[in-house]
Amino acid sequence: IAAVIDGKAIAQEIRGEIAGEVSRMRDAVGKVPGLAVVLVGARKDSETYVRSKKKACEEVGIKSLGIDLPEESSEDEVLRAVMMFNDDPSVHGVLVQLPLPQHICEEKILNAVSIDKDVDGFHPLNIGRLAMQGREPLFVPCTPKGCIELLIRSGIDMMGKRAVVIGRSNIVGAPAAMLLQRHNATVTIVHSYTKNAEDITREADIVISAVGVANLVRGDWLKPGAVVIDVGINPVEDPNSKRGYRLVGDVCYEEASRIVSAITPVPGGVGPMTIAMLLSNTLESAKRAYGLT
Ligand code: NAD
Repeated sequence: IAAVIDGKAIAQEIRGEIAGEVSRMRDAVGKVPGLAVVLVGARKDSETYVRSKKKACEEVGIKSLGIDLPEESSEDEVLRAVMMFNDDPSVHGVLVQLPLPQHICEEKILNAVSIDKDVDGFHPLNIGRLAMQGREPLFVPCTPKGCIELLIRSGIDMMGKRAVVIGRSNIVGAPAAMLLQRHNATVTIVHSYTKNAEDITREADIVISAVGVANLVRGDWLKPGAVVIDVGINPVEDPNSKRGYRLVGDVCYEEASRIVSAITPVPGGVGPMTIAMLLSNTLESAKRAYGLT
């Protein structure tokens, strides 16, 4: 039976380390890291994410700032908010909560985030550097960074291994593949047009799945002994749950756990790592700003 990769515990450990570093920074230079979040509109899910990011900041001693703009804000107003935080020396991370309302061009806004405060790692210059050999991005997107951190902290070597990433989104799949490659894995990306996805996935020693389809990856997609990082967060009906639904991953956990050597649960796997990596990126940014690296 597979070992469970406990993302909740690992994220907690990382948050403890960050709290320690923040307090050392306060002692050394009298400053703490600052994270600014720009939220446009009133999507319930976005509000929840922003609230938990702010709470996580406060718990480790990172100063959290934010601006909530109304849904009907103009592109210029959003740009001005980003610019204001770009220019604020107490802010080391500027994050624009996605998705933005339809009438606002996401590309334009993300391009405006200062690359040395781009803690989400979504600026094209940071993604470009991530994709190039011999170049270093200032920041790596949080969710894929969290996946790699789970592998490292679980003692799973990537060097020379066969890895399959399922999904190729800008925020998870594509950067996860680039990161695995940087760790010297041999990487294949499987996506919605891939033929024989099962056969390709069955070759993998390491599988990272970021699709958004409940139980897409069945037991017979997996090689015995493989390691599975399941990024998917999918609601499925559950009359036994108070909310009427529960969350499952992309990978059929019951089947997979009988075949693979280690697997992340959903919830409690990758999810908690994303915010931990956001805190880590913000801390790194502040350390750079104060010459502490
Ligand atoms: P997305 O919709 O942007 O991308 C999905 C990708 O899956 C696409 O590249 C598509 O080509 C691929 N795909 C779709 N159907 C497929 C199929 N049948 N076979 C193979 N590939 C297929 O989604 P995303 O933003 O990358 O998120 C993916 C999942 O990860 C979602 O469930 C999301 O909720 C979750 N997620 C979790 C976290 C976290 O844990 N913190 C963060 C981001 C996303």
